[in-house]
Amino acid sequence: MRDSAYEAYEKLRNGEASSQQITEEFLDRIDRVEERVHAFVSLTPGEARGAAAQVDTRLGGGEELSQVAGIPMAVKDVLCTRGVTTTCGSRMLQDFVPVYDATVIRRLKKMGLTMVGKANMDEFAMGSSTENSYFGPTRNPWDLDRVPGGSSGGSAAAVAAGEALWALGSDTGGSIRQPASFCGVVGLKPTYGLVSRYGLVAFASSLDQVGPITRSVRDSAILLQAIAGHDPCDSTSIQAEVPDYSAAMGDDIKGLRIGVPRELMDEGLSPGVRARIGEALDTLAGLGAEVEETSLDSLSYALSAYYMIAPAEASSNLARYDGVRYGFRIPGEDIWEMYAATRAAGFGDEVKRRIMLGTFALSAGYYDAYYGQAQKIRTLIVRDFQAAWERFDLLASPTAPTVAFRIGEKVDDPLSMYLSDVCTIPVNLAGIPAISLPCGLSDGMPVGLQLMGKVLDEVTILKAAYAFEQSVPSIGLPALEGSEA
Ligand code: GLN
Repeated sequence: MRDSAYEAYEKLRNGEASSQQITEEFLDRIDRVEERVHAFVSLTPGEARGAAAQVDTRLGGGEELSQVAGIPMAVKDVLCTRGVTTTCGSRMLQDFVPVYDATVIRRLKKMGLTMVGKANMDEFAMGSSTENSYFGPTRNPWDLDRVPGGSSGGSAAAVAAGEALWALGSDTGGSIRQPASFCGVVGLKPTYGLVSRYGLVAFASSLDQVGPITRSVRDSAILLQAIAGHDPCDSTSIQAEVPDYSAAMGDDIKGLRIGVPRELMDEGLSPGVRARIGEALDTLAGLGAEVEETSLDSLSYALSAYYMIAPAEASSNLARYDGVRYGFRIPGEDIWEMYAATRAAGFGDEVKRRIMLGTFALSAGYYDAYYGQAQKIRTLIVRDFQAAWERFDLLASPTAPTVAFRIGEKVDDPLSMYLSDVCTIPVNLAGIPAISLPCGLSDGMPVGLQLMGKVLDEVTILKAAYAFEQSVPSIGLPALEGSEA
């Protein structure tokens, strides 16, 4: 249970355990803790057992299998899974059963995906706490009164609670990294276009990416390896060779130039987070990296630009939920009433807020003032990062300005909720990759260090992340009181 996915894989390969044994162990753990954590919208023990049995048969036949084969995984409920409901945390999709698999799922299934369930999330991935799920909030395994972060809160909580060895999440403005930070696990947002978005329910298509949430950096590299690569079904998919992500692991980071943008270390940071990040930067410097403060002016405007661009794209993407398709419908006198009633009942408050904001920002007369300006800021951000790469190999910052907050603390204050993404959002606007790594505790809660890299340079991120992880004491997994009984 406390292994990493890679350690479980080694046991499988050495014949110390079968996939069925490992899977049963996790299904059992889910039975014991899920009621308290609520990491899943739906559980799929039947699928998991079937897949595990198949993996064991294939291994028994001497087949050389991928490192993901037979290792229990949680899948964010935003990814289409054939024959298994895919709700996106919304009432609108509560009965939606996809007739096809997302490309990442299809690829993983070929490799022996052992999916234990579909993980809870903020409705349509809009949120930072998983409180916006129609199916109720997920709780942080480190402190059940706190949020796990969001929107991939179920995925991160499942991994931290020992309900899965790893998970898939999606990240539009921080939804992999911020929950990974809050739950003390590793979350990687790949370069935009590296992982296929085909079958990922769209939120903001120019920002959305699928990525791994894991217990270790090595696991992150393994899962990324399995899902990365060109897909003709996604027009934004990059045609580039996928490097060997595990190969750089263990290389030293002497002379690596790491910049620390001042804009991501400003007043909003809690003292505990500031202290842990300071220590983490010292550790990186101790490993031979050249750590230096820098400035990327445009980052101060990233949050405002994101909250124009993401809602604008969402308002268009969510137009398809009309009561005609996807199952959910509230009848009306005529088609217009049916549309209105369906959308009024099918979407939650935050989703409606975004649709209204986005529709307004795109409407005639306001387009240039809001959406157009936001796109210009986005260009400035891209340029600022490009300029930074002339001086630095990586940039570092906190993943989030605070540790996990309490359930209910920010639900009625959207602006303060949005602020928990200040450090992660610039990365999505620029399309670059970034990782969140546990770097200690503050008030007994995990703090995350974010490392950002150049487009398609996941290798350098993983190399530095691994070096860091190996040189600091692990924060371990939460005790989750009473769960060992
Ligand atoms: N929390 C951010 C939002 O609410 C990011 C969400 C995400 O990355 N999907 O939009």
